[in-house]
Amino acid sequence: MDANKVIEIQPVINSTRSHSPRVLILGGTSEASEIAAQLAARDDLTLISSFAGRVSEPRRPMGIVRIGGFGGVVGLMSYLVDENIDVVIDATHPFASKISDNAELACNTLGVPLIALERPPWEPEDCDHWRAAADVLAAASMANHKGNRVFLTIGRQELGAFSNCEDAWFLVRAIDQPNEKLPTNSKLILKRGPFHLEDELQMFRNESISLVVSKNSGGTAIYSKIDAARALRIPIVMIDRPRKHNIPTVAHVDDVLRELERLL
Ligand code: NAP
Repeated sequence: MDANKVIEIQPVINSTRSHSPRVLILGGTSEASEIAAQLAARDDLTLISSFAGRVSEPRRPMGIVRIGGFGGVVGLMSYLVDENIDVVIDATHPFASKISDNAELACNTLGVPLIALERPPWEPEDCDHWRAAADVLAAASMANHKGNRVFLTIGRQELGAFSNCEDAWFLVRAIDQPNEKLPTNSKLILKRGPFHLEDELQMFRNESISLVVSKNSGGTAIYSKIDAARALRIPIVMIDRPRKHNIPTVAHVDDVLRELERLL
């Protein structure tokens, strides 16, 4: 995987097609919304944004929206055929690896061009105190020590990895109510980003946070927690990304739009 490498997909869109190009965006990220917003004004293509349905009230982008899984690779392939999709843009979150696997396999099998966006990971600065965790379970055991007051922001799906942590205290932030059992000593905040640095600093101070646990999501929307930890010299357990793509990826929304233009 090389985020800087130029994508090498050949334009295979059928020039005899009778419809304007139909573009499917696999979304759930701010970049996916941005791509949809940038393409919304175009009347020479049809845009469909797809969400998994994890968030109760997703911010709906412009264009057509569909919500819910496709039913694995086979379901996705059927959808691409039934909906006459000409190009797929995978703009899903760096930790959403299953949908990307499915998209690669489905597009490769059908010969549908796939543009894969993977935003660059965050990098520590010299003054940062980061410890890398291979996954959420590793992060849980690194965080669960007496006296730790942990700010835990990993979304709600994998919070179960922390449910048996009884030694540390946790401030858990998620968008929607988690289904998983929370750690015994914890407080839950339900809030959607972006978050401002001043608010993060105040929250860290008010709650005497001594450790942050975060996925290495990258991007700017929730970076203020990293800035706040840096300013207050709070260490971070940073969870590594899973392997996501086997094809070359692009790193920015502009690259996606350029590549789409080339394909169309
Ligand atoms: P995942 O593990 O890669 O996908 C699990 C299943 O959810 C997929 O097999 C697919 O179901 C369905 N799915 C995922 N993204 C979809 C989409 N955009 N449209 C339709 N179906 C989708 O994904 P995840 O980690 O559960 O994340 C779910 C969604 O939340 C993603 O769209 C992602 O961009 C967003 N998100 C994830 C995180 C995170 O930390 N994981 C953070 C922020 C946002 P079928 O097999 O039935 O098609």
